[in-house]
Amino acid sequence: MKKLIAGNWKMHTTLAEARELARGIVQGLGEAPRPEVAVAPPYTALAAVADVLAGTPVHLAAQDVFWEEKGAFTGAISPLMLVDVGCRLVIVGHSERRQHFGETDATVNRKVKAALKAGLAPIVCVGETLAQREEGRTLAVVERQIREGLAELPADAGARLVIAYEPVWAIGTGRTATPAQAQEVHAFIRTLLPGVLGTARVRILYGGSVTPDNAAALLAEPDIDGALVGGASLMAASFLAIIAAA
Ligand code: PEP
Repeated sequence: MKKLIAGNWKMHTTLAEARELARGIVQGLGEAPRPEVAVAPPYTALAAVADVLAGTPVHLAAQDVFWEEKGAFTGAISPLMLVDVGCRLVIVGHSERRQHFGETDATVNRKVKAALKAGLAPIVCVGETLAQREEGRTLAVVERQIREGLAELPADAGARLVIAYEPVWAIGTGRTATPAQAQEVHAFIRTLLPGVLGTARVRILYGGSVTPDNAAALLAEPDIDGALVGGASLMAASFLAIIAAA
């Protein structure tokens, strides 16, 4: 399975900054065999970054999506709008959405279904908090997120869907899961997938303070199929170094 390195720009970048960052990534990619690459700018910069990425191998992703196709949902963006602007992927259920915007496994499930229906590849984020890990509940929490977030999907969902294991305590904290900690959860998720999606051949990304220094060791684990990168994706040089490590 080809690895996927995805950059989550979160609530960063003006239009000018977004164009410059996208250009830096495209120009630095080179011709060497590389993983699949995607970037997720904020909504306001999607169209501008789509222009920069046109004709390049870098995919455009969004950071969230609503489940309705259109209607009176002030502030929301539909899957069809994301397809229209050029998105191939969309992050769903990021822990920051769960923490600050009331995302639940039930809303994640609605968004995943809507994204798939529109032809998008959802990157579905799961992961435990520090308290849950310390209570020994990591696998139970992740299992619930997977079973409820990915419930009742179409039979072919596994071909497009991507999962990102992102321990909440590792996101934006500089505290990365060790390769062994990440591998343990990835392998566990993989065992759940035949029952949930009908296949275990689904990319499982690791996310949580991935940097050029720790990327190679994480990506060498057998069940780590790529990375979802926050902070280190905001500079072309560090994002490119992570891509090179894959
Ligand atoms: C993320 O936003 O998904 C993330 C993993 O952030 P960071 O790399 O900054 O921890």
